[in-house]
Amino acid sequence: MIINMHSHLIHRDMWSDKFWDITLDAYSKSYKIPKEALMKTMMPEIANANADALVKAMEKAGIDKALTMGVDWGMSVVGEAKWSVEEFNKWVADQVAEYPGTLYALCAVDPRRGEKAVNLLEKSVTEWGMKGLKFHPTAGYYPDDQKYFPLYEKCVELNVPLYSHTAVTITAPMESKFADPIYLDSVAAKFPDLKIVMVHFGSITWPYKCHEIMGIRPNVYAEISGYQAQAVGTPKRMLEFLRGVFDTPGLGTSIVDKIMWGTDWPLLELILTDEKWVDWVKNIPEKAQEYGMRFKQREIKKILGLNAEKFLKL
Ligand SMILES: [Zn+2]
Repeated sequence: MIINMHSHLIHRDMWSDKFWDITLDAYSKSYKIPKEALMKTMMPEIANANADALVKAMEKAGIDKALTMGVDWGMSVVGEAKWSVEEFNKWVADQVAEYPGTLYALCAVDPRRGEKAVNLLEKSVTEWGMKGLKFHPTAGYYPDDQKYFPLYEKCVELNVPLYSHTAVTITAPMESKFADPIYLDSVAAKFPDLKIVMVHFGSITWPYKCHEIMGIRPNVYAEISGYQAQAVGTPKRMLEFLRGVFDTPGLGTSIVDKIMWGTDWPLLELILTDEKWVDWVKNIPEKAQEYGMRFKQREIKKILGLNAEKFLKL
């Protein structure tokens, strides 16, 4: 069983024109591809990332199930989109409902929306069957602010996790500092019954911080989408890190049971396609041998799906 814990359903009206503009700019500079070329190649794929397209991509890559979500950029510097936060989350829920047993969704909402965010989360879970809450703090907030505690209390009451982005972002003027996992440590310490998933497992900047937090907080988990870049660029360093993580006995928790796999489809296809990313991870035991390390098939199965299956209670 292969489960993708991080994918996106995207509609043009989900984000403001300013967001699209700066995103294309950022991608163009990062990947050194002219904006016009991106408009032709990447844009159609990204702006039409609906459930049909996601399931098609999953079939191609041999992925059985996927967790998917929008992103609430409305309160960031790019401003509100055509669709309200409730409208885009409802669209995600409706899309996912077309593939029961295959697709599952998260409610993406900025906690600065206050009571509106709490009510939307409740509706998303109880009426639309969503599986949790998704934050992208680079929109401009630190998750440990006590103003957001009612939202965490609601998560605990509904028994759903919080997923929060922990990686440096390429989309300026969004700021990376808000995504520092140390703020999730504060939330985890104050809400021991709230399950928290560190999305991107700290990426290149914060993996060790995430690792240490996970080791001492039984309620903190991680998901490794974004590691495609390391698989391509620095595979040895990445495998050494993962080996160390798997070998660390957590406090009251087993770290190897808390790491899940994801792709961030369709956003990282330019780095490594989902199909290749699946193969890469399946191949870790062989690849690691070249570097004098050992990985068990069982460990790979856990991160590719077994852990997610338990976590999502499928
Ligand atoms: Zn994402």
